[in-house]
Amino acid sequence: MPKKTQIVIVGGGAGGLELARRLGARFGRKNHDIILVDKNRTHIWKPLLHEVAAGSLDANLDEVGYRSHCHRWGYRYFYGRLEGVNVEQRRVVIAPLLDEDGSELVARHEIRFDYLVLAMGSVTNDFGTLGARENCIYLDDRDQADRFRNKLLNHCLRVSRTMAQDPTQDARVRVAIVGGGATGVELAAELYNAAAGLRYYGLEVFDEKRLDVTLVEAGPRILPALPEKLAAAATHELEALGVRVAVGQQVCEVTPEAIVTKAGDHIPADIKVWAAGVRGVPLPRDESPLERNRLGQFVVRPTLQTTLDDRIFALGDCCSCVLPGHDRPIPPRAQAAHQMAETVYANLLHLMKGEPLQDFHYHDHGSLVSLSRYSTVGSLMGNLVGGRMAIEGRLARFVYMSLYRMHLIAVHGWLRGATLIAIGHVNAIVRPRLKLH
Ligand SMILES: Cc1cc2nc3c(=O)[nH]c(=O)nc-3n(C[C@H](O)[C@H](O)[C@H](O)COP(=O)(O)OP(=O)(O)OC[C@H]3O[C@@H](n4cnc5c(N)ncnc54)[C@H](O)[C@@H]3O)c2cc1C
Repeated sequence: MPKKTQIVIVGGGAGGLELARRLGARFGRKNHDIILVDKNRTHIWKPLLHEVAAGSLDANLDEVGYRSHCHRWGYRYFYGRLEGVNVEQRRVVIAPLLDEDGSELVARHEIRFDYLVLAMGSVTNDFGTLGARENCIYLDDRDQADRFRNKLLNHCLRVSRTMAQDPTQDARVRVAIVGGGATGVELAAELYNAAAGLRYYGLEVFDEKRLDVTLVEAGPRILPALPEKLAAAATHELEALGVRVAVGQQVCEVTPEAIVTKAGDHIPADIKVWAAGVRGVPLPRDESPLERNRLGQFVVRPTLQTTLDDRIFALGDCCSCVLPGHDRPIPPRAQAAHQMAETVYANLLHLMKGEPLQDFHYHDHGSLVSLSRYSTVGSLMGNLVGGRMAIEGRLARFVYMSLYRMHLIAVHGWLRGATLIAIGHVNAIVRPRLKLH
């Protein structure tokens, strides 16, 4: 039997899953073997994680099981964590798979590839801040988001009990979020939405006034990616909800009780979240010579091929792509991962046919930040709006929601994607407002 052309994609996230679907749909299983490797069994779109954390979204309803997805779209799925790349022998090294009790289910193994696409996303960068790893939650994946939600619900229950027993008490749930970018801002607003909802579900002595959220940002203002006017509108909206927005505060330590700033402030917090930056995924057994930047992201050429190997591509958050004429890499965004998946798809086809490859062009369609049901702010970019246009309110909310809908269509195709969108609307009516378990 002639060997099939083996294309391995590591990471089934915003970019990788779309790519696996398109390659699977294009080639099927006849002469090609499209393999997706992911350390999780299911995919949840990362920009939804703050809603999962606050409980306003039930991830069980929105996640995609890789096994059923691959069965439908003609690729194979391997459950495992990438540990390293053996460039010379064209193999990826997958870590041993352990059961909950530590017993080995699958030993460390290797998967051969003819073409490799690295799409592992990123992890939170705490810049080595003292105590951050031990005391903060990082919203890197669903497990962390679930952990945050459980902690939040437990603290809300504690406060509710204390207040029920002694109404003269002033018990509060204190949350500190480090990082005033989109993730931190969206989480802060979503927490107020969740706290308001808890009243309906049995925590009578609890409402959003029992929540103390502090958003700590090292820069002079929150949302540096948005125009100043929109950042000011978001600050105003957050402060109206009750969030304390502390800008110009560099965090130097996190203790079990508090966030400590360089200026010497101690911000007491029951739950601490670090959402202040990203870096490449560490690969414990990687001895490959593939070039990485100082954040551990794979350096790629404009074709999204790694600098060292024509047959190894990297896309999304795990790559560093500085396009000609620019001095900064493409930002780590879902829209960038989506666009890169399209270019890698086209370039894999070109490469296999021996045709010249195309360069990646990033179309920044703007940034939108959801302040839960309270507001949405952002800016749209493009010819349609004549450059850059600031938007707020319902229109911004509609566009924000459309981003996830587009992802659903990219991952499931038009028919299934549209059906899932319709089911989402029904669920919004018939399901509880909050996930309480
Ligand atoms: C809370 C939050 C809100 C955000 N909001 C927005 C937003 O509103 N708009 C926007 O544009 N962007 C937003 N982002 C950023 C956006 O989610 C990322 O830029 C985007 O998901 C990157 O896509 P990706 O395909 O590179 O990686 P990801 O979507 O992160 O996918 C990476 C995949 O790789 C898998 N993986 C990781 N390590 C390994 C390994 N060693 N072995 C095997 N598999 C591995 C993971 O399980 C995951 O499935 C947000 C991020 C967060 C955390």
